[in-house]
Amino acid sequence: MNTSSTSSTPSETTLDIYCVFGNPIAHSRSPWIHTRFAELTGEALSYTKRLAPLDGFAQALNDFRTEGGRGCNITVPFKLQAAALADHISPRAALAGACNVLYMVDGQLHADNSDGIGLVRDITINAGFELKGRDILLIGAGGAAAGVLGPLLECRPRRIIVANRTVAKAQALVDAHAALALLQKVELLALTLQAPGTYFDLIINGTASSLSGGGIPVPSSCLRPGSLACDLMYGPAAQGFLTWAAEHGAQGRDGLGMLVEQAGEAFEMWRGVRPPTAQVLAELRTLLAAA
Ligand code: NAP
Repeated sequence: MNTSSTSSTPSETTLDIYCVFGNPIAHSRSPWIHTRFAELTGEALSYTKRLAPLDGFAQALNDFRTEGGRGCNITVPFKLQAAALADHISPRAALAGACNVLYMVDGQLHADNSDGIGLVRDITINAGFELKGRDILLIGAGGAAAGVLGPLLECRPRRIIVANRTVAKAQALVDAHAALALLQKVELLALTLQAPGTYFDLIINGTASSLSGGGIPVPSSCLRPGSLACDLMYGPAAQGFLTWAAEHGAQGRDGLGMLVEQAGEAFEMWRGVRPPTAQVLAELRTLLAAA
């Protein structure tokens, strides 16, 4: 998919256009991440953030295509709509019912979802945590949880409990993934937030609770010393969850690694080049710590 000249420097070529759509979007770190990927791999592209009106995403996407846009990331609240607007959808995006990556091939719009593989890469590679045979508690049943459940099942843990405030949404997610769970021989159940009843090797907070100041959504009995506790949020909003994990002897991890790894997957889809995600994650952590 990389059609950029290899004999010219980025400043001498027409830059391929990429962006991230969201509403709100001002907070997004994706332009910084993709610009850094491009610098480190020598790819000639521009990547900006675009605020789409809440009722105007389809038009904004159409304008982007008309301008010659090559690909984009999609964030809240357009992930479901983006999947529906695409001409082709990958199996993992179809299973999630949501997409965070779009790209053009021969005038056709393709949709994919790199959130789940981004989280799995962060947990298994960056944090060095083996998923096979583990007991996992996935908290939340929104777009983020839907994106990560399939890739988590493919790592063949022993069991995944999906716990959500609205348990019917957790059950719907479990039902949609039942065939994959059977294939991978993983026990998959839906429960309420208060019901998990035991401790887990890995807890993933995929709720927006940290954002809304809603506190820790599950009892501390879910944690034991040595558990890994990941919040998909990052920055100050994740701090309460990370402190809670540390107070119970668990290893806390925020969502910054997932953010960089899902971006790395998108960059590779667009450009056919794997960017150095570990380096960019380390640089971004330093940048945010200094801010
Ligand atoms: P979403 O679709 O709006 O879903 C929100 C989820 O949070 C639902 O399960 C909802 O439960 C639950 N929730 C909200 N407030 C709660 C509270 N006070 N207590 C308990 N549960 C609550 O959002 P999303 O797209 O899944 O995003 C979830 C989080 O993941 C966000 O913080 C987002 O920033 C983060 N995220 C991070 C990355 C990354 O790369 N690091 C990528 C994607 C998302 P109900 O179903 O009962 O409403």
